[in-house]
Amino acid sequence: MTGQIFISLLNPAIGLLFAAAFFLLWFQRRERYIAYAAAAYVATAFAFLVQDVAPALPMELQRLPANAGFLLTGLFFAAAIVGRYGLPIPWRAMTVTTAVSLAAFLWFLLGRPSIEGRIYTISLGAGIIALMVVRALWPLAKPHLIDRLLFWVAALSAANLIVRPLVILSLTGGFANYEGFQQSIYWTTVQFSQAIVSVLAAISLMVAIAIDLIAELRQQAESDPLSGLLNRRGFEAAATAALRRCGGENPSVALLIADLDRFKQVNDVHGHAVGDAIIAAFGAVVRHSAPPAMVAGRIGGEEFALLLPGDGIETARRVAEAVRTGLAPACAGRIPPALTPTASFGLATGAPGKGLSQLMREADQALYEAKRAGRDRVRAFASALPLSAAG
Ligand code: GH3
Ligand code: MG
Ligand code: MG
Repeated sequence: MTGQIFISLLNPAIGLLFAAAFFLLWFQRRERYIAYAAAAYVATAFAFLVQDVAPALPMELQRLPANAGFLLTGLFFAAAIVGRYGLPIPWRAMTVTTAVSLAAFLWFLLGRPSIEGRIYTISLGAGIIALMVVRALWPLAKPHLIDRLLFWVAALSAANLIVRPLVILSLTGGFANYEGFQQSIYWTTVQFSQAIVSVLAAISLMVAIAIDLIAELRQQAESDPLSGLLNRRGFEAAATAALRRCGGENPSVALLIADLDRFKQVNDVHGHAVGDAIIAAFGAVVRHSAPPAMVAGRIGGEEFALLLPGDGIETARRVAEAVRTGLAPACAGRIPPALTPTASFGLATGAPGKGLSQLMREADQALYEAKRAGRDRVRAFASALPLSAAG
């Protein structure tokens, strides 16, 4: 036994460790693409083990499962990356590539034996599969660094698989026999570059899984499932960020606070489920009748806030009227016909520098005026009115 055995154990060990890690992640997330990543690392561990460490079959035949393992690694890893984006996985093209590659491999093993021929067919097959990933991800917008990283991992794998054999073999020449092959610079570069790409790919995919998870948790923590709008925490965070971005030529902002009218009574008379249906309908109306830059949230039980960055009082009034008049039609069929739900709106405008809490106070006061004036209406904050007068 020589020291080479430890180098040979490196790739199977890395493969098994990552397979275990992806399996544990899959156990938590149950996303199919994570299972594909685990399968890719099982295949890579198996392939390197058969190739280098434990020749279970006679020398000639042992290479078939080993190389099938290499191709399966590429196939499952490609499925993992493409699957993460929810894109259709090119199973058929990948299977055909794998089959053709293995058939050519067999021909260079038994028909016209050639170590170089076998290297090219397997590397090229795996390289073409990596190119399928490059092609699938190419047209996608890559908003995050991790998306660009995954793309480049696929491109790097393709280059490593297609270009490296050509370069190294043309520099070092062919192999006299199989022992020569396993001790060659070529095989050392395979082991080395495969280890690097393998680690890089696994870490990139794990970071991608973590980023997706954080985004999902944040989305859950900041949204309100009943109305489909943000919750109070999400609204405050998004509104503060929008106010900070607001500025430029015409720096203005409008804030609306809406409160469903006599909602306690609605619940008492018609039941909580009817109340919930009205809240859901209100959320739907807001989502459909408001400008795209709007930040909208359900900030209390039956209270909503809409921030309109860059807009003045006229737009805000129009949005408020659209939501006010849209509420009852949106509830049709979901609540008893005798019930006509209404909402009152308070409106405040100003420069973004005014701050969210000041705008909220002013809109709240205007809302109070709308309620006092008889409900089912929109009132704008009048700055002449002293805040304390609102009581
Ligand atoms: P006003 O017109 O003055 O706003 O009267 P109101 O009855 O709407 O005001 P009040 O603050 O007294 O009652 C609000 C009610 O909203 C009390 C509560 O039962 C109801 N509510 C709060 N959250 C929910 C919810 O998630 N679902 C339902 N169905 N009702 C809710
Ligand atoms: Mg109310
Ligand atoms: Mg209220």
